Amino acid sequence: MKKIVIQKGKEKSLQRFHPWVFSGAIARKDKGIEEGEVVEVCDAYDNFLAIGHYHTSSISVRIFSFVPVEPNFAFWKQRIQQAVDYRKSIYLFDNKETTLFRLVNGEGDGLPGLIADWYNGHLVLQFHSYGMYLMRDMFVQIFRELLGERLCSIYNKSATTLSDSNAFVPSNELLFGELDEEVRVLENGVPFIIDIPQGQKTGFFIDQRDNRKMVGDFCQDKKVLNLFCYTGGFSAYALRGGAELVHSVDISKRAIEQTDENMSLLGDVSKRHKSFAANVFDFIEEMPDNYYDVIVVDPPAFAKHHKVKEQGIKGYRNINRKAMEKLKSGGLLFTFSCSQAISKEDFQTIIFSAAALEHKNIRIVRSLQHALDHPVNIFHPEGSYLKGMALYVE
Ligand code: SAH
Repeated sequence: MKKIVIQKGKEKSLQRFHPWVFSGAIARKDKGIEEGEVVEVCDAYDNFLAIGHYHTSSISVRIFSFVPVEPNFAFWKQRIQQAVDYRKSIYLFDNKETTLFRLVNGEGDGLPGLIADWYNGHLVLQFHSYGMYLMRDMFVQIFRELLGERLCSIYNKSATTLSDSNAFVPSNELLFGELDEEVRVLENGVPFIIDIPQGQKTGFFIDQRDNRKMVGDFCQDKKVLNLFCYTGGFSAYALRGGAELVHSVDISKRAIEQTDENMSLLGDVSKRHKSFAANVFDFIEEMPDNYYDVIVVDPPAFAKHHKVKEQGIKGYRNINRKAMEKLKSGGLLFTFSCSQAISKEDFQTIIFSAAALEHKNIRIVRSLQHALDHPVNIFHPEGSYLKGMALYVE
């Protein structure tokens, strides 16, 4: 194994089991290390620290072991088995009411750079590192062995997630079996149709499952607005929860078509739903005041990197101010940020300033985060990217 030597003093984060080595921490490296290659990381005195995949990016090594190991088939199979075992322990595996879940959550499952989402027999792999991508055939074999008859197909959807690595950009492709054009799933008994190849991310925002359930529990006889609705996840729960009406807004025409399709799966209550293919920032200016009892605000990441954090903060503040201004007094606001650069504390401060500027009394009903199948590695707090708050607004 070729070696990467860390600068003196920079080994601390690895001794605390943080799974990333940043390029600035490297003192020297062996010649000829290739993109995605497995490397050993040592301190300045040649003591072993960890093993990981090397990449020419700001995160130079993604660590997968802090003890010397042979990263062979058995090693990776065991890691994936552990990810499966965790989903079994939280009753998501083979669950009849919920047939989609995240099976592998990157660093959170000790598999940095690998996401695997399960859609009722169809597995979607998303590689975030070239090192993991190079092992795709082996992963196909492992998943086939572990999932057996349940598995209908494996699809690789990494064309956008690997595009900023120096390696070539792969195209999305079927790796195993046959993919149905429409994959039908249930989430807490609520039906959805997933378009895996064309949809955003791996097809659905699985991380919002628990929050959708909470929203659904507070919608009886209420007027609900779902902003940035994508394929209508929150809207479906609101309709199931007995909402008087539900309005869904997304800028993507395709997402709105899918929203309408998903609501029609609910039968009669879909008459209470209306969708709008519109820019939320225009929609919210024009909508009536004091009309909606519940508003969901789940925008795309406004601050993808630290460099644009200030701009992101402004975006979240503005949209939340508007939502607070327009919501009926005594209404509920469910608001989210999926920006990694915005911490939980940052987000609470943003909501604090929006409330102060709008002169609103706000009770925090609950702090929200991603669903249970998106575990966070205790040594890798960056894994907690989704922050949300349920607020009672007077
Ligand atoms: N709440 C959704 C996920 C939202 S993802 C769910 O539960 O599935 C963010 C969505 O915001 C995407 O669907 C994207 O198309 C949409 N979007 C991005 N910018 C927008 C804008 N300015 N106005 C409306 N929708 C927007």
